[in-house]
Amino acid sequence: MTAEQAAAWGAGGTHSPLMNNYGSPPRLFMRGSGAELWDRDGRRHLDFLCGLAVTGLGHAHPSVTQAIAAQAGTLTHTSNLFANEHQAPVAEAISRLIDSGSGQVLFQNSGAEANEAALKIVRKYQGRGRHGVVSALRSFHGRTLMSLAATGQPEKHEPFQPLPEGFRHVVWNDLDEFEKSLTPEVGGVILEPVQGEGGVNPADVEYLQGVRHICDERGLLLVLDEIQTGFGRTGQWFGFQAAGIRPDVVTMAKGIANGMPVGAIWACDEVAAAFVPGDHGSTFAGQPLALAAARATIAELEAIDAPAAARRIEAALRAGLEPLSGVDHIRGRGLLLGVELDDVGLAGRTGAEVARACLERGLIVNGVTPTTLRLAPPFILTDAQIAEAIDIMASVIGEGVV
Ligand SMILES: *Cc1c(COP(=O)(O)O)cnc(C)c1O
Repeated sequence: MTAEQAAAWGAGGTHSPLMNNYGSPPRLFMRGSGAELWDRDGRRHLDFLCGLAVTGLGHAHPSVTQAIAAQAGTLTHTSNLFANEHQAPVAEAISRLIDSGSGQVLFQNSGAEANEAALKIVRKYQGRGRHGVVSALRSFHGRTLMSLAATGQPEKHEPFQPLPEGFRHVVWNDLDEFEKSLTPEVGGVILEPVQGEGGVNPADVEYLQGVRHICDERGLLLVLDEIQTGFGRTGQWFGFQAAGIRPDVVTMAKGIANGMPVGAIWACDEVAAAFVPGDHGSTFAGQPLALAAARATIAELEAIDAPAAARRIEAALRAGLEPLSGVDHIRGRGLLLGVELDDVGLAGRTGAEVARACLERGLIVNGVTPTTLRLAPPFILTDAQIAEAIDIMASVIGEGVV
C-alpha cells in the first residue's frame, strides 16, 4: 500500500484518522453498476457478496437511484413527530410479504437496532419475570449490547462483560436442547432461518416447526431474525416461509433498501400492540430518504420476482461448483450459500485466504469460517457473470489440486 493510498483509505500509516475497527481494507471502490464494482485503479470486480447480502438489485440500480435522487431534492427528514408519505406503503408491503397483510411494522436504521427493538417488545409483551430469551450457538444478532448478548458466540462477549442478562444459547437444530433450556423466566426465542455470519447453517424445517409448536404450548414469542435472509435471498420472501410457520416477530434490514440504512421489525397484531407511545423511538428511523429507497427496492424485487431469481441462480451455481474437486459440499438456500472446501480445495489456506485469492482475480466473496466461502450475490446476475465467477472459483480452488 502506498502512502497516498494509506492516506486516502484511512488505513496504515502512523496515525490514521479512522479507528482500526475493521483492519486494513483490501480495496477502495469508487463506482458500481449491477453486479460489478470498479476500484480506484479502474480494476473491475464481480460482486458476489453484495455488501453482506444488501445490494440484491446490484449497484446503482436505476429505479432506486432515481427514487433516492428525487426524494433528496424533495424532503429528507422530519422525524417521527410527523408522518411521511412512504412509511405506510412500505409497512404494508412488508406485512403483505410476511403474512398476507396482517401485523404491524416499526422502522429502525439497522439490523442490530431491529433486534434491539424486537427484544424490547418481547420484554414488554411478556412482562417482568419473563424476560429470558433463548438463541442458538453460532448465531449472530448484532453488536449493540442486547443484540450481542443474544449472539451465540461467547468469544465476542468477553471484552464487553457484563452484558444484559437473561440470554442462553443452545445447540443449533436440536429440539431437545431447546426444550431443556426453557425455564419459567424465558419469554421468547430468537433464531435465524439460515445462520449467516455463523457459517451459512440452515435451520431444519422440522426444527423451526418444532420450535413453533413448543412456543405455542408455552406461550413463548418466536422472533425470527431475517436481517440477512429476508427479501427473497433464500428463495422465499422470508426464510421462515420454507417451514410454513408463522412467527410472532420478524426483524429485517440488509436487503430492504438496496444499501440505504433501513431496518424494521414486524410483529403480529397482538404483539405489536405491546408498544405504545413512549416505549421506543429513533430520530432517524423511517425517514423519507431511506424509505423512498426501500419503497423502490421492494417494488423492483417484486417486479423481478426476486425469490424465483434466487432459486434459478442457486441452481446454476450449484451445478457449476458442486462437481469441483476441492469442494466438499454446498449448504444454504437460494443466494445465501456456503461453499465448504475440503483439504484439497483449501491447500493449506484458510477460507479468508481463499477469498483473498478470489479477490485478486476480481471476484468478491467472503471467508465466513476457516473452511467456508460465503456467496451472497445479487438477483440480477447474467449467465455470463455466473460462468465467470465459477471459472474464477474453480481456478483458485484448483490451485491445490495436483
Ligand atoms: C447483519 C446482521 C445483523 C446486524 O445488522 P447490522 O445492520 O449490522 O446491525 C443481525 N442479524 C443478522 C442475522 C445479520 O446478518
